[in-house]
Amino acid sequence: KANRKFHPDDTIVDVGGHKIGGGYFAVMSGPCSVESKEQITYVAQRVQAAGASILRGGAFKPRTSPYSFQGLRAEGLELLQEARKVTGQPIVTELMNNEHIPLFLDAKVDMIQIGARNMQNFELLKAVGKLNVPVLLKRGLSSTLEELVMSAEYIMAEGNPNVVLCERGIRTFETSMRNTLDISAVPMLKKMTHLPVVIDPSHAAGIAFMVPALAQAAVAVGADGLMIETHNDPAKAKSDGAQSLTPDQFDSLMNTIKPELEFFGKTL
Ligand code: PEP
Ligand code: MN
Repeated sequence: KANRKFHPDDTIVDVGGHKIGGGYFAVMSGPCSVESKEQITYVAQRVQAAGASILRGGAFKPRTSPYSFQGLRAEGLELLQEARKVTGQPIVTELMNNEHIPLFLDAKVDMIQIGARNMQNFELLKAVGKLNVPVLLKRGLSSTLEELVMSAEYIMAEGNPNVVLCERGIRTFETSMRNTLDISAVPMLKKMTHLPVVIDPSHAAGIAFMVPALAQAAVAVGADGLMIETHNDPAKAKSDGAQSLTPDQFDSLMNTIKPELEFFGKTL
């Protein structure tokens, strides 16, 4: 179902009225973690004003250490809904567990994120495949593109055709960045599949200064969208502060990619 051979046309995924793919470019931005009502509402307004179409924010967080902030969980979903009431922007947030699906449906989450660490959680993939909600599927830390496409296939085989693939950096021998952005994943995935492909330069780089350059590269290589972490006060962020942009930095990133999108004939 994901194979380009049998579906030559690009799939366009609609997330709360915003299209991704087939010439439509979507920017998802917001904090790594939802931290408070003030924080998420403020960041939502700022990223929307800068041109983001979808608000991101983690409620359930997959942290390396069990002692790190685990997210506001159900309360985080409530705060995302409050932010959506203010801006009207659709929300994307990570689902880590089948048991949380009713919470996500109650919250009317507009797009469900499957994180890198769960890319091959096949029971979770089957479960979101049965939902009528678009899925943002992130590439596993050490997964091949074939494995990523097969994971999309798991979702689509259950009846959900609305899958967006996300390259978010992979593990390599290089240690000066958090991960290595595999920019060649975009043309290769577009050859292999008809699904939209977005790039997350924040998790790929792990360092804020590099995010705008990688975002520009993503547009140039033909990505259908971006996921970018923006925080009101990165130094005090409860997760991923080092890679988070301030709202002002996000605004200038958007100003550099807008003419680039126009050049490549993409609609923001
Ligand atoms: C995130 O988006 O905050 C996240 C945890 O991403 P990934 O699964 O790519 O590490
Ligand atoms: Mn993060």
